[in-house]
Amino acid sequence: TQSTRPQRILGAVQQNATRGDPRSVVRAIDQYCRNQEWAMNVGDEKGCILDSVVSEVNPATVLELGTYCGYSTVRIASLLPPHAKLITLEFNPEFAVIARQVIAWAGLEDKIQLVEGASGDLIPKMKEQFGVETFDLVFLDHWKDRYLPDTKLMEECGLLRKGSVLLADNVICPGTPEYLEFVRSSPRYESQYFKSHLEYTKVEDGLEKSVFLG
Ligand code: SAM
Ligand code: MG
Repeated sequence: TQSTRPQRILGAVQQNATRGDPRSVVRAIDQYCRNQEWAMNVGDEKGCILDSVVSEVNPATVLELGTYCGYSTVRIASLLPPHAKLITLEFNPEFAVIARQVIAWAGLEDKIQLVEGASGDLIPKMKEQFGVETFDLVFLDHWKDRYLPDTKLMEECGLLRKGSVLLADNVICPGTPEYLEFVRSSPRYESQYFKSHLEYTKVEDGLEKSVFLG
């Protein structure tokens, strides 16, 4: 039977990355996706912006919406302080099974909790079932029409505190117009655009960083 793209990405990790070395995992995926086969990872260029936001926020609790193969998951978790926790949500079980192996290859299982299911179902369960109080950082990178409803849901569920940072990928390409309009016009957010390019291409894309002001 034919392999899937996520399986081939995992294969590139197993062949080219060192076990227990997250940065080698990131590098192996970028190299594969730049030279062999495009994939929807945040990628190396926007990944540097992601890294700088993670380092600046130095979060103890992170929520990632959209795991795919675990590329950004590994990228974020490798920069977290000791005892910090990253919860990542993925509703496609075929992707989740790959991401678990990528995360294990990077040696980051202890920092990451991958939860299978839809964000709209899981966000309301974060406090009671996952013991979360609030998130210091949220990386939004799932389907683009979910950014706005899930942000409103996180607010309603009390998962954002004054100073929580939302970082949203692909706000230009494919684009998230309703979300951008919301965070840029709401007095409850302070929002900033980081111009970059769609992963592994020269097409304009960027990340929007929005601080929740409470
Ligand atoms: N963050 C990943 C990275 O940079 O390596 C890429 C994530 S990919 C762009 C988006 C993922 O979100 C897909 O794997 C898709 O199955 C998942 N997804 C989309 N909508 C979702 C939802 N509502 N709940 C959970 N997962 C979702
Ligand atoms: Mg993305």
